[in-house]
Amino acid sequence: QVVTRFAPSPTGFLHIGGARTALFNWLYARGRGGKFLLRIEDTDRERSTPEATAAILQGMEWLGLDHDGDVISQFEGAERHAEVAHQLLAEGKAYKCFSTQDEIAAFREKARAEGQSTLFRSPWRDADPTTHPDAPFVIRIKAPQDGATVIRDQVQGDVTIRNNQLDDMVLLRSDGTPVYMLAVVVDDHDMGVTHVIRGDDHLNNAARQMMIYEAMGWDVPVWAHIPLIHGPDGKKLSKRHGALGAQEYQAMGYPAAGMRNYLARLGWSHGDDEFFTDAQAKEWFDLDGIGKSPARFDLKKLENLCGQHIAISDDAALRREIGAYLQAAGRPSLTETQNSDLERAMYCLKDRARTFPELLEKAHFVLTSRPVEMDEKAAKAFEAVSDGILKELTPHVQNASWSRDGLEEALNAFANDKGIKFGKLAAPLRAVLAGRAVTPSVFDMMLVLGREETLARLTDAAN
Ligand code: GLU
Repeated sequence: QVVTRFAPSPTGFLHIGGARTALFNWLYARGRGGKFLLRIEDTDRERSTPEATAAILQGMEWLGLDHDGDVISQFEGAERHAEVAHQLLAEGKAYKCFSTQDEIAAFREKARAEGQSTLFRSPWRDADPTTHPDAPFVIRIKAPQDGATVIRDQVQGDVTIRNNQLDDMVLLRSDGTPVYMLAVVVDDHDMGVTHVIRGDDHLNNAARQMMIYEAMGWDVPVWAHIPLIHGPDGKKLSKRHGALGAQEYQAMGYPAAGMRNYLARLGWSHGDDEFFTDAQAKEWFDLDGIGKSPARFDLKKLENLCGQHIAISDDAALRREIGAYLQAAGRPSLTETQNSDLERAMYCLKDRARTFPELLEKAHFVLTSRPVEMDEKAAKAFEAVSDGILKELTPHVQNASWSRDGLEEALNAFANDKGIKFGKLAAPLRAVLAGRAVTPSVFDMMLVLGREETLARLTDAAN
């Protein structure tokens, strides 16, 4: 069974890169009936905060990246990590090193002066334990000294590291606490992780982590180190390119499904497919489709995909997601009536909105109430219409049969009769019904508002 994991360090919000890593792991597991686990790498006590953990969980929840089992705290596994270091010690695959910081610095100094490698070579590696002093020590792994370590990476290909580049990494500090590298390997093994999909900034760690797998005789997971995300200018993504936090995109009104689609395409491809559903992404996602070069963040593409996802979304689900957006954005929430009106109107709103603010702008006609206030553009359109024409129109609307066809027929006939183009009539009607210049079609607005409310707005304006 496939088991993947997302292992964020809780030192800040869930950033876009992390969200994509989580998504890739989620897709890989979900498409294969596997498990997707979540481990919080909170061993760095100084930098880890519960607020950051909460923000990461919230971000994942927004993106719909549900994980299996409990959230695992790496810090809580410290005893187990130490146990593995002691096991390696007992098996002679690790050793106690009593070298002090000063001795190590002196070693490096001398090596530098002699033009030798400054990798620390501990004199305790092969020391007879009976000669051990009664002093503080660290536990170091006995790294292989010749040959090479090959990381068979599914994205980067085979990456070979000569073993003489590896030092005897510390596993356990002198205070008995495990180092991060040991914790990762022990946790991944104990959690049964089969595939490690993570940022390629961890590629170098993989070589060191493999030493531990090999010393313990554990199966090495499948590695997939994915390239970073760059900004549109090709440089490393940074704040200057816009929002970095996944949840900032929620607050800007991007739907989670569009975000998932976009993030999936950020560094992964499936032929020419740009737009796809979750079901398709789960079915298609594989490691072969991950590109080797950094993906560029492209807001236009994100918006375009979001628009397509809004268009195919279920009305009630959209309405709920908009509620969550309003909260995330710190905007006032909708009343119960507004909510049900919005849902009724959704069919004519969701077609061309790329974000929730855009959709809500078009929904203004149904969310506002009389007297309808016109914005500047609407007021201009309204003023352009000759006096009295709306008053004349009112009985025609009153008598029209209340259906799209009926309304179209009545309004067109009226425009014909007056010798004006329908557009000339539509612009002031938008102003009257919505107070805005950009709205759904006049017919849709009338149908959503109903005869009574439509007539009331017409009458307000005609007076
Ligand atoms: N905690 C690491 C990070 O946040 C991830 C380590 C891993 O995936 O192995 O970058």
